Amino acid sequence: MAWAVSNGRHLMELPSVVLAGRDVLPETGSLIRGHGLSGHVVVASGPNVWAALGEKLRASLSEADFESSWVEVGAPDLAAVEEVEKEVVKTGSKVVVGMGGGKSIDVAKLAAFRQGARMISVPTSASHDGMSSPFASIRGFGRSYSAVTKPPFAIVADLGVILGAPPRTFNGGVGDLLAKLTAVKDWQLARDEKGEYYGTYAANLARMSAVMVEEEASNIGSRNDEGISGLIEALISAGVAAGIAGSSRPCSGAEHLFSHALDRIAPGKGLHGEKTGLGSIMMAKLHGLDWERIRRALVEAKAPSRAGELGLTDEEVVEGLLAAPSVRPDRYTILHKLRLDADQARELAVETGVI
Ligand SMILES: [Zn+2]
Repeated sequence: MAWAVSNGRHLMELPSVVLAGRDVLPETGSLIRGHGLSGHVVVASGPNVWAALGEKLRASLSEADFESSWVEVGAPDLAAVEEVEKEVVKTGSKVVVGMGGGKSIDVAKLAAFRQGARMISVPTSASHDGMSSPFASIRGFGRSYSAVTKPPFAIVADLGVILGAPPRTFNGGVGDLLAKLTAVKDWQLARDEKGEYYGTYAANLARMSAVMVEEEASNIGSRNDEGISGLIEALISAGVAAGIAGSSRPCSGAEHLFSHALDRIAPGKGLHGEKTGLGSIMMAKLHGLDWERIRRALVEAKAPSRAGELGLTDEEVVEGLLAAPSVRPDRYTILHKLRLDADQARELAVETGVI
């Protein structure tokens, strides 16, 4: 929190422009031109996304008098970030577009930040809040870490593109948003017990994004325009809440630490947001919140509410709960306070129906 608030000053960084709706991708060029950008644009994306959407984006940029070049992103690691940076330097570009489900956006975010370029986020799925947040999850130094960058300058969320993503990606978005209910509780706990900085506005905004998902759960479950538009808006709001807080506190609490612990314990099982969804059911119970409401919202949205749906074993869930506090010892949460033993962890998972 130190960087967000120092000497009584608070730095908020927010996206300048958000365009969301059907068939908005071809407007990318004119949108960013209208906001004073010009010259060369570097686009970072995976090969499949580029094959499906690259020509549309390139044509849109060209119509608005931008030159552009593509850098293929494989893994979200420092090597990929450096590749994008090299292209930015070579072309003298002031704009980097990240187009994809998350990895390419994160790579573009960090590369643009390091090169002082503007970042344009073009999400192709609604699986988590990275499309608008100032954080980039980049692998490097042998572990996963979230780098603090700037929020994207612009977000172009094409509903048609996002509706075409695998249905499971929506589960991730739902779970990542319901997680804000418990993340905010953890933030309040850290304020009350550790004197940590707490921003009411950022906290309320993050919580509102979760409430939106609860209200739209059945529309999201039927994958209709109204539900998925609401999901996209809520994901953008949640990322903005992190930008306002200057930290991931409003968006990420013990349920996220549980998800990160499972990344290590059971790699490849479940999306990030699917795991935070399970985590938030259990953390809600520990916080004395109405955990059944969270479970119901997941079920209505057709997202997983039981570990078995993700192929996770009972043992992995228990281990995840026990390992979660050590993922980030400095981030005080309900799991740091209660320090569950194996029996208590199992009981919690059983009572909430997660295992
Ligand atoms: Zn998340």
